Amino acid sequence: MKDESTNQKKSRITDIIKILKEEYPNSSCSLKYESPFQLLVATILSAQCTDERVNKVTSVLFEKYSNAESFRKLSNEQIEKEIFSTGFYRNKAKSIKNISEEICEKYDGIVPKTLESLVKLRGVGRKTANVVLGNAFNIPGLVVDTHVIRIANLLKFVITKNAVVIERELSKIIEKKEWTNFGHLCIDHGRAVCIARKPNCVKCGISNYCPSKI
Ligand code: SF4
Repeated sequence: MKDESTNQKKSRITDIIKILKEEYPNSSCSLKYESPFQLLVATILSAQCTDERVNKVTSVLFEKYSNAESFRKLSNEQIEKEIFSTGFYRNKAKSIKNISEEICEKYDGIVPKTLESLVKLRGVGRKTANVVLGNAFNIPGLVVDTHVIRIANLLKFVITKNAVVIERELSKIIEKKEWTNFGHLCIDHGRAVCIARKPNCVKCGISNYCPSKI
């Protein structure tokens, strides 16, 4: 795979995605939400926290406060109390409060639908923006999280931990319609088989396509 051309990379990653789709046919976003705003909040809460814990917290939280307008009326301290168990609660509460205000003031309470607008919201990075685009709006979004960073490097599609560069490089070789799914597939594969520090290459369905196979 040394000196692999872009077309060769395209072909290899297409085969990999095909196999991963067969291995994880139900791959999807594991955060629970009923609107783009709720997914935005859940994604903010998911930093350094498991999706299970976030879903537990949001199942209570979204019953009480379901949209930007209702979150906007809360104080930072009130939000902190509600989300405490997800960790880093002060920063997360601040972000949720800020985005609620911005969405109400600039977008009439409706989450904007473009990457450019989403990343301008205070506290929203490209990863969160792509999660919302891909899952809540069905607009292809290439999420680069810890699993994508690790697996894209192991597969030698990139040799960098820089998420922006990885997103750019992967977007050149993955079909746009697969962008959102690729993130989900990497999360599933990263949790089940290509585990950090302990990849189970013997059980890996894409090992024939992986230069890091051991
Ligand atoms: S072969 Fe090993 S290192 Fe490569 S993707 Fe599979 S589990 Fe990960």
